[in-house]
Amino acid sequence: MTVKTDVLELNNYINGEWIGPSNSDRNKVINPANQEVIAVAPRATKEETEEAIAVAKAAFESGVWSGLTAHERSEYLNKIADKIDENFDELVRLEVMDNGKIKAEAEFDIADAAGCFRYYAGLVLAPEGETYQVPEDVQAMIVKEPVGVAGLIVPWNFPLLMSVWKIAPAMAAGNTIVYKPAEATPITAMKLVEIIEEVGVPKGVVNLVMGRGSVVGQTIAESKDVDLVSFTGSTEVGREIMRAAAGNLKKISLELGGKSPNIIFADADFETAIDHALMGIYFGSGQVCSAGSRVLVEESIYDKFVETFVERAKLIKVGPGLDENSQMGAINSESQMNTILKYIEIGIEEGATLAYGGRRLTENGLDKGFFIEPTVFTDVTSDMRIVQEEIFGPVVTIQKFKDEEEAIQLANDTDFGLAGGVFSNDGAKALRVIKKVRAGITWVNTFGPTYNEAPWGGYKMSGIGRSLGTYGLDDFQEIKQININLAVEPSGWFPNK
Ligand code: NAD
Repeated sequence: MTVKTDVLELNNYINGEWIGPSNSDRNKVINPANQEVIAVAPRATKEETEEAIAVAKAAFESGVWSGLTAHERSEYLNKIADKIDENFDELVRLEVMDNGKIKAEAEFDIADAAGCFRYYAGLVLAPEGETYQVPEDVQAMIVKEPVGVAGLIVPWNFPLLMSVWKIAPAMAAGNTIVYKPAEATPITAMKLVEIIEEVGVPKGVVNLVMGRGSVVGQTIAESKDVDLVSFTGSTEVGREIMRAAAGNLKKISLELGGKSPNIIFADADFETAIDHALMGIYFGSGQVCSAGSRVLVEESIYDKFVETFVERAKLIKVGPGLDENSQMGAINSESQMNTILKYIEIGIEEGATLAYGGRRLTENGLDKGFFIEPTVFTDVTSDMRIVQEEIFGPVVTIQKFKDEEEAIQLANDTDFGLAGGVFSNDGAKALRVIKKVRAGITWVNTFGPTYNEAPWGGYKMSGIGRSLGTYGLDDFQEIKQININLAVEPSGWFPNK
């Protein structure tokens, strides 16, 4: 990475070459904790994106990657994981500066990214395929093969981790890649691709193209030479991707937004419920797709819960991610901060009670950054926009319910279906309720943990397909049926004379 007066100059990586900007259109990447420009990134054109796609296609067809044995690809993945570990401190620092999150969160992300490469390095060596009993003397079986050119489009909230959730299984399966990070957070993307280059992955296999979603992202989603697009981002853009992908009916995997319920029953362990409900919404300053942004609390403990939750929210130290004392970091961009502040105004206009927070924080040296107080709304109803729409910030609504039935009804009263949680010490009740929550990722007596081993994805408008686990690899594989005739003789279907 070239460093010039402390501002990183980022480049695209196409066909094994680092390529500087081809035009004067530049993206100034800022540190959201103080608005300092920390990097300058290229904005690739449609033509450059098409070139990257053509390179990935040629690399796929050459067999330089798909033709390797799974063992060979697995070794590369393990080497990448080792290099991530070696560069851990630098990656953490860059992620904090680029995204605004606190150091402890970035440490978790980077460690998990290395773990994800190791997981897929192992999984790709697991026994695979199936054989079938068919009514002929035929050996029927399936094998799994790479899909081809994978277009990977990622968001800014977990810049490296969301990328790795795609890159690791895509590479493990033998695909070649065109990878587009978010404009707000391209720094660790470049660092990761440097690592991929360093371990000797053949040129053309992984191509990095930075730029606007409407240009680079759209070109990837539309291209007839891209076989699969794996997208993580907003539901709105997800819909556009789906439309664009229709041209060549490319496979799509969409990890989209959420408005996830967190149901707290009166018989829950109170401290555990408070603690996880706070984590559920304020981790990542609420800029987490699976955030528990709708807390639903049983009537009999509602007042005590709200009072304690607000007391605890007040204790959260908001500040720059690199400051060891900070417990909640910055909002990633000015526009995201303004969106959140707008939703807070909307909540007040809709008649909800602002029980705590709601302000941009500018005191104690935070004036140059994008910081918002942990915010709590009570007295909300399900028809309010702050209850229905993804705010993607540190804003929670706390609603009251009478019984199990109402808890389930409120939980499911949303177009989204990404995540959900239940807190109760009654195991049967917790299981009964969580099974009725229409969401792909659910938790009982905890909220938020994510495992490389377990599938991640949403119901309803939260997406299509699953990342992680065996399902995450499946998304990057085609299934081929092979039938071998063991009785090698003519069928006699048509006469031979
Ligand atoms: P976004 O949809 O604005 O952008 C995501 C990516 O898509 C970026 O790289 C962007 O440049 C690109 N893009 C934008 N317009 C495009 C277009 N027309 N065609 C192709 N690509 C385009 O989302 P964001 O603001 O970066 O991220 C926040 C959203 O991501 C939230 O809604 C959040 O819930 C979601 N998210 C979901 C998951 C999940 O696993 N379900 C994980 C993280 C984030």
